[in-house]
Amino acid sequence: MINKTRPVVGIDLGTTNSAVAYIAKGKPAIIPSPQGQRIIPSVVMLDLQGKILVGDAARAAQVAMPDRVVAAVKRKMGSNEPVVMAGQAFSPQEISAMILKELKSFVDSALGEGEKEAVITVPAYFTDEQRRATKQAGELAGFVVERIVNEPTAAALAFGLERLEEDKHILVYDLGGGTFDVSVVEMMSGILEVKASAGNNHLGGEDFDWLLVNWLAGKIKKSHGIDPLNDMRAKSLLKEQAEKIKIELSSAEKTAIHLPLVVMKNNRPVGLSTEITRQDFVGLIENLLTETVECVRRAMADAKVEVSEIQEILLVGGSTRIPRVRELLTAFFGKEPRCDVNPDEAVALGAAVQAGLKSGELSDSGLIITDVAPFSLGTSILDEHRGMTRDGVFSVIIPRNTTIPVTRTERFYTATPGQTSVQVDIYQGEHELVKYNHSLGEFLLEGIPANYRKVEPIDITYRYNLNGILEVTAKCVSNGREESLTVQDALARDSEQQFAASVDKLQALYENAPKEEPDMDSEYYLPDFADDEDGDGAATASLEELREELGMLQNRLAAIKQESNELTRKKLGKLEHRLDEAKLLEDTADIQKIIDEATDVLIDLEMEAEE
Ligand code: ADP
Ligand code: MG
Repeated sequence: MINKTRPVVGIDLGTTNSAVAYIAKGKPAIIPSPQGQRIIPSVVMLDLQGKILVGDAARAAQVAMPDRVVAAVKRKMGSNEPVVMAGQAFSPQEISAMILKELKSFVDSALGEGEKEAVITVPAYFTDEQRRATKQAGELAGFVVERIVNEPTAAALAFGLERLEEDKHILVYDLGGGTFDVSVVEMMSGILEVKASAGNNHLGGEDFDWLLVNWLAGKIKKSHGIDPLNDMRAKSLLKEQAEKIKIELSSAEKTAIHLPLVVMKNNRPVGLSTEITRQDFVGLIENLLTETVECVRRAMADAKVEVSEIQEILLVGGSTRIPRVRELLTAFFGKEPRCDVNPDEAVALGAAVQAGLKSGELSDSGLIITDVAPFSLGTSILDEHRGMTRDGVFSVIIPRNTTIPVTRTERFYTATPGQTSVQVDIYQGEHELVKYNHSLGEFLLEGIPANYRKVEPIDITYRYNLNGILEVTAKCVSNGREESLTVQDALARDSEQQFAASVDKLQALYENAPKEEPDMDSEYYLPDFADDEDGDGAATASLEELREELGMLQNRLAAIKQESNELTRKKLGKLEHRLDEAKLLEDTADIQKIIDEATDVLIDLEMEAEE
């Protein structure tokens, strides 16, 4: 498709999975990868050759090479915490940019090269920094990013586009891998009004997995006196297994757990054989699920909507497949949630609808959406009450769940005699003391005429835009002096240099990486070592890396051996011996040959075992 203007796509950049969609013939449609995948795991890997892999290939290598793989980076967005991948430090937005670059490659294949704009979704409950980091990740990936949309709002948009005639209240319950959001939305003849949102940025399927990991590790600790969580590889393995078990328990009432090798103790493999029921699992996560219902209650109270007024409950996010989630909501609302919305695609499709509204492709639809600020925004004041003064009191300027865009001004006064400047501290949150809220920035207004205390009025204006980004202005009323800060811009300016550095870094990574395609089809894909047979100068794995690989093969072999019959054990005994010998070799080509042979044998056996 060739477009005169730049195409706008919608992206769901999830903790666990990501997807991209656009408007085709008036309807949102997913843009699949050239191999046909509609969603990809949000997992990134730097392989042994220095190549970035994103999606299934990276996810498949997570247990074998946990130190080269990064998952769930969304949980770090907005922080300065470096993410280490293969010994190199990256910012969370750099890693997210790699995921977005992968999605951009799907867009480029489908729509042709050229400038692209992206509408990217974030959890409604994301803070200013988290939104800004997301925008930056999009720009690092090469998109123009003008619009950030809340995920539950996007889901409501996808739903609303199909039902322009209907008048009703809907509740969007989005429980994904890392975050939980709930929004109450009123639909009226194509106008969608988000009435209130609530949520938790750190509650999702990942937490359920880790609770299960602790349960599994506890069993091992009890029977073998060793904590597998001290071993990075064992931890990854248990995490992977925990997710599998969790998913199984969404359809089965109980499941058998059989892990022949979790960790080595005194050179012997320690495994785990046990059973878990759905009830056991629900016991582990019940508190977190109850918390989601509390958020539902709060969003409804803020929206001033009664339980009986909610006509539709939309389930979004992979974790809503847990039967207990559906049970709790059915009990709460006295009706079943809808099951016809695809929980994995709704957000990306909705982002595409927003993209279509922005590009004009859907401007004839009559669809209009308004959103809210999900948290209160305000400033820190000195509060005087019955002769007592308290510092650091939170004075709300924009109360939570106010419809956006919004501009509000409040008047304050100087606190001390002769005061010529005020410090404006910007916070978001719900606590009456700012120290328990989230600081977004601060600035100084100077040049206030010296006067008695409480005489000079200062007007503070908060402007919150459609992207959930805030601008604050302070004005001295008597002389008109003004100072302002766009939280977004101020911090972006600070990080301009950092942004330029990230652009260079990513460019170098992508340009220097070897060009050959890895074998993406293999479920057992491990990055293959460049053998450089054709002498084209491709990187060759170092002795150290090959020896690491040998160690991993030995672990896999030990696991298979436990499960095998007499004959296979004999065969494996020989192979084990060859691997031991290989560890002593110095010639990388010889070692590589043995690795290749052993890998073939192990893959065959693993496949047999799966069947
Ligand atoms: P995100 O929006 O955070 O990327 P998704 O909506 O893709 O997340 O949901 C991913 C989460 O859903 C993961 O934690 C995954 O384990 C979980 N999940 C997927 N399918 C099921 C299932 N059948 N039962 C329970 N959890 C599931
Ligand atoms: Mg999601």
